[in-house]
Amino acid sequence: MTTLSIDIPETLQTFLRGASASIVIGADKLGAADGAEAVTTDPATGAVLATIAAGGPIDVARAVDAASEAFEHWRRLSPAARGRILLDVADAIEAHAEELATLETLDNGKPLTESLYIDIGLVSQIWRYFGGWTTKLGGQTLPVSPPVGEALVYTQREPLGVIGAIVPWNFPLLIASWKVAPALAAGNTVVLKPSEHTSLTALRLIEIALEAGLPPGVLNMVTGLGSSAGQALIEDPRVAKVSFTGSTETGRRIITASAPSIKKLTLELGGKSANIVFPDADLKAAAQGALAAIFLNQGQVCCAGSRLFVHRDVRDELLAELETATRAIELGHGLDDSTEMGPLVSATQRDRVEGFLRAGTQEGATLLCGGQRPGGALSHGHFLTPAIFTDVDDAMTIATEEIFGPVLSVLTFDDEAEAVRRANASAYGLAAGVWTDDLKRAHRVARELQAGTVWVNLYNVLDPAAPFGGYKASGYGRDLGEESLLGFTQTKSVWIGLD
Ligand code: NAD
Repeated sequence: MTTLSIDIPETLQTFLRGASASIVIGADKLGAADGAEAVTTDPATGAVLATIAAGGPIDVARAVDAASEAFEHWRRLSPAARGRILLDVADAIEAHAEELATLETLDNGKPLTESLYIDIGLVSQIWRYFGGWTTKLGGQTLPVSPPVGEALVYTQREPLGVIGAIVPWNFPLLIASWKVAPALAAGNTVVLKPSEHTSLTALRLIEIALEAGLPPGVLNMVTGLGSSAGQALIEDPRVAKVSFTGSTETGRRIITASAPSIKKLTLELGGKSANIVFPDADLKAAAQGALAAIFLNQGQVCCAGSRLFVHRDVRDELLAELETATRAIELGHGLDDSTEMGPLVSATQRDRVEGFLRAGTQEGATLLCGGQRPGGALSHGHFLTPAIFTDVDDAMTIATEEIFGPVLSVLTFDDEAEAVRRANASAYGLAAGVWTDDLKRAHRVARELQAGTVWVNLYNVLDPAAPFGGYKASGYGRDLGEESLLGFTQTKSVWIGLD
Protein backbone atom coordinates (compact mmCIF):
# COMPACT_ATOMS: atom_id res chain seq x y z
CA MET A 1 0.00 0.00 0.00
CA THR A 2 1.28 3.51 -0.79
CA THR A 3 2.08 5.83 2.09
CA LEU A 4 2.45 9.58 2.29
CA SER A 5 6.08 10.52 1.97
CA ILE A 6 7.06 13.70 3.74
CA ASP A 7 10.45 15.39 3.85
CA ILE A 8 11.12 16.89 7.25
CA PRO A 9 13.62 19.79 7.05
CA GLU A 10 17.05 18.89 8.48
CA THR A 11 16.92 21.58 11.21
CA LEU A 12 13.63 20.16 12.48
CA GLN A 13 15.02 16.64 12.41
CA THR A 14 17.80 17.74 14.76
CA PHE A 15 15.24 19.36 17.04
CA LEU A 16 13.04 16.23 16.98
CA ARG A 17 15.98 14.00 17.92
CA GLY A 18 16.57 16.15 21.03
CA ALA A 19 12.92 16.38 22.05
CA SER A 20 13.17 13.64 24.68
CA ALA A 21 14.52 16.38 26.98
CA SER A 22 11.19 18.21 26.78
CA ILE A 23 10.83 19.27 30.41
CA VAL A 24 12.15 22.81 30.77
CA ILE A 25 13.11 23.97 34.25
CA GLY A 26 14.94 27.28 34.32
CA ALA A 27 17.39 27.05 31.41
CA ASP A 28 17.66 23.25 31.59
CA LYS A 29 16.00 20.80 29.22
CA LEU A 30 15.48 17.52 31.00
CA GLY A 31 13.92 14.08 30.83
CA ALA A 32 11.40 13.04 33.47
CA ALA A 33 12.82 12.42 36.95
CA ASP A 34 11.67 8.79 36.79
CA GLY A 35 12.83 8.41 33.17
CA ALA A 36 9.30 7.96 31.79
CA GLU A 37 8.86 8.73 28.09
CA ALA A 38 6.08 8.85 25.52
CA VAL A 39 5.98 9.25 21.76
CA THR A 40 4.28 11.90 19.68
CA THR A 41 3.20 10.98 16.15
CA ASP A 42 2.37 12.57 12.81
CA PRO A 43 -1.41 12.07 12.62
CA ALA A 44 -1.33 12.09 8.81
CA THR A 45 0.95 9.05 8.59
CA GLY A 46 0.89 7.47 12.03
CA ALA A 47 4.72 7.67 12.04
CA VAL A 48 6.54 8.49 15.27
CA LEU A 49 7.83 12.07 15.16
CA ALA A 50 9.68 12.23 18.45
CA THR A 51 10.05 10.82 21.92
CA ILE A 52 9.13 13.27 24.67
CA ALA A 53 9.46 13.17 28.45
CA ALA A 54 6.41 12.03 30.44
CA GLY A 55 6.77 14.19 33.52
CA GLY A 56 5.04 13.69 36.86
CA PRO A 57 4.75 15.20 40.35
CA ILE A 58 8.53 15.40 40.99
CA ASP A 59 9.09 17.32 37.75
CA VAL A 60 6.18 19.63 38.48
CA ALA A 61 7.50 20.37 41.98
CA ARG A 62 10.90 21.27 40.50
CA ALA A 63 9.32 23.46 37.84
CA VAL A 64 7.28 25.28 40.49
CA ASP A 65 10.49 25.77 42.55
CA ALA A 66 12.13 27.43 39.53
CA ALA A 67 9.06 29.56 38.77
CA SER A 68 8.76 30.66 42.43
CA GLU A 69 12.40 31.72 42.50
CA ALA A 70 12.19 33.56 39.18
CA PHE A 71 9.01 35.36 40.32
CA GLU A 72 10.95 37.40 42.89
CA HIS A 73 13.09 38.87 40.12
CA TRP A 74 10.54 39.04 37.29
CA ARG A 75 7.88 40.92 39.26
CA ARG A 76 10.44 43.56 40.27
CA LEU A 77 11.65 44.17 36.74
CA SER A 78 10.42 47.53 35.45
CA PRO A 79 7.27 47.29 33.32
CA ALA A 80 9.21 48.69 30.36
CA ALA A 81 11.95 46.07 30.70
CA ARG A 82 9.38 43.26 30.97
CA GLY A 83 7.55 44.60 27.96
CA ARG A 84 10.77 44.87 25.94
CA ILE A 85 11.49 41.19 26.56
CA LEU A 86 7.99 40.11 25.45
CA LEU A 87 8.33 42.25 22.32
CA ASP A 88 11.70 40.62 21.59
CA VAL A 89 10.08 37.19 21.98
CA ALA A 90 7.33 38.29 19.54
CA ASP A 91 9.98 39.29 16.99
CA ALA A 92 11.82 35.99 17.46
CA ILE A 93 8.58 34.01 16.96
CA GLU A 94 7.94 35.93 13.76
CA ALA A 95 11.47 35.15 12.55
CA HIS A 96 10.86 31.44 13.23
CA ALA A 97 7.25 31.42 11.96
CA GLU A 98 7.76 28.91 9.14
CA GLU A 99 9.68 26.51 11.32
CA LEU A 100 7.07 26.68 14.12
CA ALA A 101 4.19 26.32 11.64
CA THR A 102 5.81 23.27 10.02
CA LEU A 103 6.30 21.68 13.42
CA GLU A 104 2.67 22.41 14.39
CA THR A 105 1.43 20.82 11.18
CA LEU A 106 3.59 17.73 11.70
CA ASP A 107 2.41 17.26 15.28
CA ASN A 108 -1.25 18.27 14.96
CA GLY A 109 -2.06 17.55 11.30
CA LYS A 110 -3.63 20.88 10.30
CA PRO A 111 -2.78 22.34 6.86
CA LEU A 112 0.37 24.46 6.82
CA THR A 113 -1.48 27.58 5.67
CA GLU A 114 -3.65 27.35 8.80
CA SER A 115 -0.61 26.78 11.05
CA LEU A 116 1.23 29.70 9.48
CA TYR A 117 -1.48 32.32 9.11
CA ILE A 118 -3.90 31.42 11.90
CA ASP A 119 -1.88 29.72 14.65
CA ILE A 120 1.63 31.12 14.49
CA GLY A 121 0.55 34.43 12.93
CA LEU A 122 -1.64 35.06 15.95
CA VAL A 123 0.99 33.77 18.39
CA SER A 124 3.44 36.56 17.55
CA GLN A 125 0.62 39.14 17.57
CA ILE A 126 -0.41 37.98 21.05
CA TRP A 127 3.10 38.28 22.50
CA ARG A 128 3.37 41.74 20.95
CA TYR A 129 -0.05 42.86 22.19
CA PHE A 130 0.66 41.82 25.78
CA GLY A 131 4.23 43.17 25.56
CA GLY A 132 2.59 46.55 24.96
CA TRP A 133 0.36 46.20 28.02
CA THR A 134 3.10 45.99 30.68
CA THR A 135 3.44 49.78 30.82
CA LYS A 136 -0.29 50.41 30.91
CA LEU A 137 -1.37 48.24 33.80
CA GLY A 138 -2.20 50.98 36.30
CA GLY A 139 -4.50 51.35 39.29
CA GLN A 140 -6.88 54.12 40.36
CA THR A 141 -7.03 56.87 42.98
CA LEU A 142 -10.39 56.81 44.69
CA PRO A 143 -12.58 59.56 46.19
CA VAL A 144 -13.13 58.06 49.67
CA SER A 145 -15.02 59.65 52.60
CA PRO A 146 -13.61 58.23 55.86
CA PRO A 147 -15.69 58.89 59.02
CA VAL A 148 -12.90 61.02 60.50
CA GLY A 149 -10.21 63.04 58.77
CA GLU A 150 -8.97 62.58 55.24
CA ALA A 151 -7.35 59.75 53.39
CA LEU A 152 -5.88 59.01 50.02
CA VAL A 153 -6.74 55.61 48.57
CA TYR A 154 -5.12 54.14 45.53
CA THR A 155 -5.26 50.68 44.03
CA GLN A 156 -2.51 48.76 42.42
CA ARG A 157 -2.60 45.66 40.26
CA GLU A 158 -0.19 43.01 41.51
CA PRO A 159 0.78 39.70 39.93
CA LEU A 160 -0.56 36.50 41.50
CA GLY A 161 2.68 34.49 41.56
CA VAL A 162 3.18 31.15 39.82
CA ILE A 163 0.58 30.34 37.16
CA GLY A 164 -0.19 26.82 35.93
CA ALA A 165 -1.21 26.84 32.26
CA ILE A 166 -2.81 23.61 31.02
CA VAL A 167 -3.64 23.53 27.31
CA PRO A 168 -5.17 21.19 24.69
CA TRP A 169 -3.97 19.86 21.35
CA ASN A 170 -6.16 21.69 18.83
CA PHE A 171 -4.29 25.02 18.73
CA PRO A 172 -1.25 23.99 20.77
CA LEU A 173 1.03 27.02 20.61
CA LEU A 174 -1.77 29.54 20.11
CA ILE A 175 -3.67 28.60 23.25
CA ALA A 176 -0.42 28.26 25.23
CA SER A 177 0.37 31.85 24.20
CA TRP A 178 -3.13 33.05 25.19
CA LYS A 179 -2.16 32.11 28.72
CA VAL A 180 1.59 32.58 28.95
CA ALA A 181 1.92 36.04 27.35
CA PRO A 182 -0.63 37.91 29.55
CA ALA A 183 0.50 36.03 32.67
CA LEU A 184 4.11 37.13 32.10
CA ALA A 185 3.07 40.66 31.11
CA ALA A 186 1.34 41.05 34.48
CA GLY A 187 4.54 39.98 36.27
CA ASN A 188 3.74 36.32 37.00
CA THR A 189 5.88 33.30 36.18
CA VAL A 190 4.48 30.18 34.53
CA VAL A 191 4.63 26.40 34.48
CA LEU A 192 3.12 25.23 31.20
CA LYS A 193 1.62 21.75 30.73
CA PRO A 194 0.98 21.20 27.01
CA SER A 195 -1.16 18.38 25.66
CA GLU A 196 0.61 15.03 25.56
CA HIS A 197 -0.39 14.83 21.86
CA THR A 198 1.20 18.13 20.80
CA SER A 199 4.08 19.28 23.00
CA LEU A 200 6.66 20.07 20.33
CA THR A 201 5.95 23.69 19.39
CA ALA A 202 5.84 24.74 23.04
CA LEU A 203 9.29 23.22 23.54
CA ARG A 204 10.64 25.07 20.50
CA LEU A 205 8.96 28.29 21.63
CA ILE A 206 10.70 28.16 25.01
CA GLU A 207 14.07 27.60 23.31
CA ILE A 208 13.37 30.61 21.08
CA ALA A 209 12.17 32.75 24.00
CA LEU A 210 15.26 31.95 26.10
CA GLU A 211 17.50 32.87 23.16
CA ALA A 212 15.53 36.11 22.76
CA GLY A 213 16.26 37.09 26.38
CA LEU A 214 13.44 35.67 28.50
CA PRO A 215 15.11 35.05 31.88
CA PRO A 216 15.36 31.33 32.82
CA GLY A 217 12.68 30.20 35.27
CA VAL A 218 10.09 32.73 34.08
CA LEU A 219 8.54 30.15 31.72
CA ASN A 220 8.95 26.47 32.57
CA MET A 221 7.30 23.44 31.06
CA VAL A 222 6.44 19.92 32.16
CA THR A 223 5.30 17.62 29.36
CA GLY A 224 3.27 14.56 30.30
CA LEU A 225 -0.19 13.24 30.95
CA GLY A 226 -3.00 15.29 32.41
CA SER A 227 -3.66 12.70 35.09
CA SER A 228 -0.05 12.95 36.27
CA ALA A 229 1.70 16.25 35.40
CA GLY A 230 -1.57 18.20 35.05
CA GLN A 231 -3.01 16.90 38.30
CA ALA A 232 0.24 17.67 40.19
CA LEU A 233 0.17 21.26 38.92
CA ILE A 234 -3.38 21.73 40.15
CA GLU A 235 -2.61 20.24 43.54
CA ASP A 236 0.59 22.21 44.19
CA PRO A 237 -0.36 24.82 46.84
CA ARG A 238 2.31 27.22 45.55
CA VAL A 239 0.50 27.60 42.21
CA ALA A 240 -1.72 30.66 42.62
CA LYS A 241 -3.90 30.20 39.57
CA VAL A 242 -4.57 27.61 36.89
CA SER A 243 -5.60 28.80 33.48
CA PHE A 244 -7.05 25.81 31.66
CA THR A 245 -8.40 25.15 28.18
CA GLY A 246 -9.84 21.75 27.42
CA SER A 247 -12.95 19.66 27.77
CA THR A 248 -15.80 20.49 30.12
CA GLU A 249 -15.32 17.11 31.79
CA THR A 250 -11.67 17.86 32.66
CA GLY A 251 -12.73 21.37 33.71
CA ARG A 252 -15.07 19.86 36.32
CA ARG A 253 -12.21 17.70 37.67
CA ILE A 254 -9.98 20.75 37.89
CA ILE A 255 -12.57 22.69 39.90
CA THR A 256 -12.71 19.85 42.44
CA ALA A 257 -8.95 19.25 42.58
CA SER A 258 -8.20 22.96 43.02
CA ALA A 259 -10.66 23.47 45.88
CA PRO A 260 -8.31 22.57 48.78
CA SER A 261 -5.82 25.29 47.82
CA ILE A 262 -8.54 27.82 46.82
CA LYS A 263 -6.86 28.32 43.48
CA LYS A 264 -8.05 30.95 41.10
CA LEU A 265 -9.22 29.43 37.84
CA THR A 266 -9.88 30.47 34.29
CA LEU A 267 -11.67 27.70 32.41
CA GLU A 268 -12.14 27.68 28.65
CA LEU A 269 -14.19 24.58 27.99
CA GLY A 270 -16.25 22.90 25.30
CA GLY A 271 -18.86 24.31 22.94
CA LYS A 272 -21.75 23.50 20.63
CA SER A 273 -22.03 26.80 18.86
CA ALA A 274 -25.01 27.85 16.77
CA ASN A 275 -24.48 29.51 13.40
CA ILE A 276 -27.72 31.09 12.17
CA VAL A 277 -28.44 31.95 8.53
CA PHE A 278 -31.37 34.34 8.00
CA PRO A 279 -33.13 34.57 4.62
CA ASP A 280 -31.86 38.13 4.07
CA ALA A 281 -28.19 37.03 4.26
CA ASP A 282 -25.68 37.03 1.41
CA LEU A 283 -26.01 33.28 0.85
CA LYS A 284 -22.66 32.79 -0.91
CA ALA A 285 -20.87 34.43 2.00
CA ALA A 286 -23.00 32.48 4.49
CA ALA A 287 -22.16 29.18 2.80
CA GLN A 288 -18.44 29.92 2.82
CA GLY A 289 -18.69 31.14 6.40
CA ALA A 290 -20.59 28.05 7.49
CA LEU A 291 -17.93 25.77 6.00
CA ALA A 292 -15.08 27.70 7.60
CA ALA A 293 -17.02 27.70 10.87
CA ILE A 294 -17.19 23.91 11.06
CA PHE A 295 -14.29 22.57 9.00
CA LEU A 296 -11.38 24.76 10.15
CA ASN A 297 -8.79 22.51 11.83
CA GLN A 298 -10.88 19.42 10.88
CA GLY A 299 -13.68 20.68 13.11
CA GLN A 300 -11.47 20.38 16.20
CA VAL A 301 -12.30 23.90 17.29
CA CYS A 302 -13.97 24.71 20.59
CA CYS A 303 -16.06 27.46 18.98
CA ALA A 304 -16.85 25.47 15.78
CA GLY A 305 -20.22 26.40 14.27
CA SER A 306 -21.42 22.82 14.62
CA ARG A 307 -25.18 23.58 14.70
CA LEU A 308 -26.13 25.36 11.51
CA PHE A 309 -29.62 26.86 11.79
CA VAL A 310 -30.93 27.73 8.31
CA HIS A 311 -34.18 29.56 7.56
CA ARG A 312 -36.59 27.26 5.72
CA ASP A 313 -36.85 29.64 2.72
CA VAL A 314 -33.14 29.39 1.90
CA ARG A 315 -32.44 25.87 3.16
CA ASP A 316 -32.31 24.05 -0.19
CA GLU A 317 -30.18 26.68 -1.90
CA LEU A 318 -27.71 26.86 0.97
CA LEU A 319 -27.50 23.09 1.36
CA ALA A 320 -26.73 22.64 -2.34
CA GLU A 321 -23.81 25.08 -1.99
CA LEU A 322 -22.58 23.40 1.16
CA GLU A 323 -22.74 19.90 -0.24
CA THR A 324 -20.88 20.74 -3.45
CA ALA A 325 -18.15 22.60 -1.61
CA THR A 326 -17.82 19.94 1.09
CA ARG A 327 -17.44 17.10 -1.41
CA ALA A 328 -14.66 19.09 -3.11
CA ILE A 329 -12.52 19.53 0.03
CA GLU A 330 -9.09 18.04 -0.61
CA LEU A 331 -7.73 15.85 2.20
CA GLY A 332 -4.03 15.22 2.60
CA HIS A 333 -0.87 15.79 4.58
CA GLY A 334 -0.81 19.28 6.04
CA LEU A 335 2.59 19.96 4.46
CA ASP A 336 1.23 19.22 0.98
CA ASP A 337 0.35 22.48 -0.84
CA SER A 338 -2.92 21.14 -2.22
CA THR A 339 -4.28 20.00 1.16
CA GLU A 340 -7.38 21.78 2.44
CA MET A 341 -8.11 19.47 5.36
CA GLY A 342 -5.74 17.31 7.40
CA PRO A 343 -6.30 14.28 9.64
CA LEU A 344 -7.84 14.24 13.10
CA VAL A 345 -5.26 14.47 15.84
CA SER A 346 -5.33 10.81 16.88
CA ALA A 347 -6.94 7.45 16.21
CA THR A 348 -8.87 7.84 19.48
CA GLN A 349 -10.30 11.15 18.33
CA ARG A 350 -11.31 9.69 14.96
CA ASP A 351 -13.01 6.73 16.68
CA ARG A 352 -14.87 9.16 18.91
CA VAL A 353 -16.10 11.17 15.94
CA GLU A 354 -17.17 7.97 14.18
CA GLY A 355 -19.24 7.12 17.26
CA PHE A 356 -21.12 10.41 16.79
CA LEU A 357 -21.61 9.65 13.09
CA ARG A 358 -23.23 6.33 14.03
CA ALA A 359 -25.39 8.01 16.68
CA GLY A 360 -26.58 10.57 14.11
CA THR A 361 -27.73 7.91 11.68
CA GLN A 362 -29.24 5.69 14.39
CA GLU A 363 -31.25 8.61 15.81
CA GLY A 364 -32.74 9.37 12.38
CA ALA A 365 -30.64 12.16 10.85
CA THR A 366 -29.68 11.92 7.16
CA LEU A 367 -25.98 11.79 6.31
CA LEU A 368 -25.83 13.97 3.21
CA CYS A 369 -22.12 13.39 2.57
CA GLY A 370 -18.80 12.45 4.19
CA GLY A 371 -17.96 10.58 7.35
CA GLN A 372 -15.78 8.01 5.57
CA ARG A 373 -12.17 6.93 6.08
CA PRO A 374 -10.38 7.60 2.81
CA GLY A 375 -8.25 4.77 1.46
CA GLY A 376 -5.00 4.70 -0.51
CA ALA A 377 -2.12 6.81 0.70
CA LEU A 378 -4.27 8.37 3.43
CA SER A 379 -5.25 5.09 5.07
CA HIS A 380 -2.39 5.18 7.62
CA GLY A 381 -3.47 8.58 8.92
CA HIS A 382 -6.49 9.49 11.06
CA PHE A 383 -8.48 11.01 8.20
CA LEU A 384 -12.26 11.37 7.91
CA THR A 385 -14.07 13.00 5.01
CA PRO A 386 -16.04 16.09 6.11
CA ALA A 387 -19.67 15.26 6.89
CA ILE A 388 -23.03 17.03 6.74
CA PHE A 389 -26.13 15.78 8.52
CA THR A 390 -29.61 17.04 7.58
CA ASP A 391 -32.99 16.28 9.18
CA VAL A 392 -31.41 16.95 12.55
CA ASP A 393 -33.61 17.34 15.60
CA ASP A 394 -32.59 19.59 18.53
CA ALA A 395 -32.60 16.64 20.96
CA MET A 396 -30.32 14.37 18.92
CA THR A 397 -26.85 13.56 20.25
CA ILE A 398 -25.24 15.24 17.22
CA ALA A 399 -27.14 18.46 18.07
CA THR A 400 -26.37 18.52 21.77
CA GLU A 401 -22.90 17.05 22.33
CA GLU A 402 -19.57 18.48 21.27
CA ILE A 403 -18.25 16.24 18.46
CA PHE A 404 -14.93 18.03 17.93
CA GLY A 405 -14.59 16.76 14.38
CA PRO A 406 -15.63 17.63 10.78
CA VAL A 407 -19.34 17.01 11.26
CA LEU A 408 -21.99 19.66 10.55
CA SER A 409 -25.56 19.33 11.84
CA VAL A 410 -28.06 21.33 9.78
CA LEU A 411 -31.31 22.40 11.45
CA THR A 412 -34.20 24.37 9.92
CA PHE A 413 -36.13 27.28 11.52
CA ASP A 414 -39.05 29.56 10.58
CA ASP A 415 -38.64 32.80 12.53
CA GLU A 416 -36.10 34.86 14.45
CA ALA A 417 -37.44 34.24 17.96
CA GLU A 418 -37.46 30.50 17.33
CA ALA A 419 -33.86 30.58 16.02
CA VAL A 420 -32.65 32.45 19.10
CA ARG A 421 -34.55 30.20 21.51
CA ARG A 422 -33.21 27.02 19.93
CA ALA A 423 -29.67 28.39 19.59
CA ASN A 424 -29.70 29.20 23.32
CA ALA A 425 -31.12 25.79 24.30
CA SER A 426 -27.65 24.35 24.83
CA ALA A 427 -25.64 23.58 27.95
CA TYR A 428 -22.77 25.43 26.27
CA GLY A 429 -22.34 29.12 25.38
CA LEU A 430 -18.95 29.67 23.80
CA ALA A 431 -19.72 31.36 20.46
CA ALA A 432 -22.43 31.95 17.88
CA GLY A 433 -22.69 33.19 14.31
CA VAL A 434 -25.35 35.32 12.62
CA TRP A 435 -25.68 35.82 8.87
CA THR A 436 -27.98 38.69 7.88
CA ASP A 437 -27.95 41.92 5.90
CA ASP A 438 -30.49 43.48 8.26
CA LEU A 439 -28.59 45.76 10.64
CA LYS A 440 -31.33 45.86 13.27
CA ARG A 441 -31.69 42.11 13.26
CA ALA A 442 -27.91 41.69 13.59
CA HIS A 443 -27.75 43.75 16.79
CA ARG A 444 -31.01 42.36 18.17
CA VAL A 445 -29.94 38.74 17.75
CA ALA A 446 -26.36 39.39 18.94
CA ARG A 447 -27.82 40.85 22.14
CA GLU A 448 -30.08 37.84 22.76
CA LEU A 449 -27.58 35.05 22.09
CA GLN A 450 -26.07 33.46 25.20
CA ALA A 451 -22.48 33.18 24.01
CA GLY A 452 -19.13 34.73 24.91
CA THR A 453 -18.47 35.68 21.28
CA VAL A 454 -21.02 36.51 18.57
CA TRP A 455 -19.78 36.86 15.01
CA VAL A 456 -22.04 38.64 12.50
CA ASN A 457 -21.29 37.93 8.82
CA LEU A 458 -17.96 36.31 9.70
CA TYR A 459 -16.84 33.38 11.85
CA ASN A 460 -13.81 31.99 13.71
CA VAL A 461 -11.99 35.32 13.67
CA LEU A 462 -9.87 36.20 16.69
CA ASP A 463 -7.78 39.17 17.73
CA PRO A 464 -5.50 39.61 20.75
CA ALA A 465 -7.61 42.61 21.83
CA ALA A 466 -10.98 40.81 21.83
CA PRO A 467 -11.78 38.74 24.95
CA PHE A 468 -12.64 35.11 24.28
CA GLY A 469 -14.43 32.72 26.62
CA GLY A 470 -17.65 31.04 27.52
CA TYR A 471 -21.09 31.45 29.03
CA LYS A 472 -22.66 28.52 30.89
CA ALA A 473 -20.80 25.15 30.69
CA SER A 474 -18.26 26.66 28.28
CA GLY A 475 -16.39 28.00 31.30
CA TYR A 476 -15.53 31.23 33.07
CA GLY A 477 -12.89 33.92 32.91
CA ARG A 478 -11.58 35.23 29.61
CA ASP A 479 -8.53 34.69 27.44
CA LEU A 480 -7.19 37.57 25.32
CA GLY A 481 -7.83 41.28 25.69
CA GLU A 482 -7.39 43.45 28.76
CA GLU A 483 -9.72 41.14 30.65
CA SER A 484 -7.32 38.21 30.45
CA LEU A 485 -4.48 40.40 31.69
CA LEU A 486 -6.54 41.56 34.68
CA GLY A 487 -7.32 37.90 35.40
CA PHE A 488 -3.64 37.38 36.11
CA THR A 489 -3.56 40.17 38.71
CA GLN A 490 -4.97 40.87 42.15
CA THR A 491 -6.00 44.31 43.34
CA LYS A 492 -4.60 45.94 46.45
CA SER A 493 -6.18 49.06 48.00
CA VAL A 494 -3.63 51.24 49.82
CA TRP A 495 -4.94 53.75 52.38
CA ILE A 496 -2.83 56.77 53.36
CA GLY A 497 -4.06 58.79 56.33
CA LEU A 498 -3.60 62.49 55.55
CA ASP A 499 -4.21 63.97 59.01
P1 NAD B 1 -8.70 17.58 27.60
O1 NAD B 1 -9.58 18.19 28.63
O2 NAD B 1 -8.66 16.12 27.48
O3 NAD B 1 -7.17 18.01 27.88
C1 NAD B 1 -6.76 19.37 27.95
C2 NAD B 1 -5.49 19.45 28.78
O4 NAD B 1 -5.79 19.05 30.11
C3 NAD B 1 -4.38 18.52 28.30
O5 NAD B 1 -3.14 19.16 28.48
C4 NAD B 1 -4.51 17.33 29.23
O6 NAD B 1 -3.32 16.62 29.40
C5 NAD B 1 -4.92 18.02 30.53
N1 NAD B 1 -5.64 17.17 31.48
C6 NAD B 1 -6.42 16.09 31.22
N2 NAD B 1 -6.89 15.57 32.39
C7 NAD B 1 -6.39 16.33 33.39
C8 NAD B 1 -6.52 16.30 34.80
N3 NAD B 1 -7.23 15.38 35.44
N4 NAD B 1 -5.89 17.25 35.51
C9 NAD B 1 -5.16 18.20 34.90
N5 NAD B 1 -4.99 18.28 33.57
C10 NAD B 1 -5.61 17.36 32.82
O7 NAD B 1 -9.05 18.29 26.24
P2 NAD B 1 -8.43 18.01 24.79
O8 NAD B 1 -8.99 16.72 24.31
O9 NAD B 1 -6.95 18.19 24.84
O10 NAD B 1 -9.03 19.23 23.96
C11 NAD B 1 -10.31 19.22 23.43
C12 NAD B 1 -11.26 19.99 24.33
O11 NAD B 1 -10.77 21.30 24.56
C13 NAD B 1 -12.62 20.18 23.67
O12 NAD B 1 -13.65 19.92 24.61
C14 NAD B 1 -12.63 21.66 23.30
O13 NAD B 1 -13.88 22.24 23.22
C15 NAD B 1 -11.81 22.25 24.38
N6 NAD B 1 -11.26 23.54 23.94
C16 NAD B 1 -11.81 24.68 24.46
C17 NAD B 1 -11.35 25.92 24.04
C18 NAD B 1 -11.93 27.21 24.59
O14 NAD B 1 -11.32 28.25 24.43
N7 NAD B 1 -13.08 27.18 25.22
C19 NAD B 1 -10.32 25.99 23.10
C20 NAD B 1 -9.79 24.80 22.60
C21 NAD B 1 -10.27 23.58 23.04
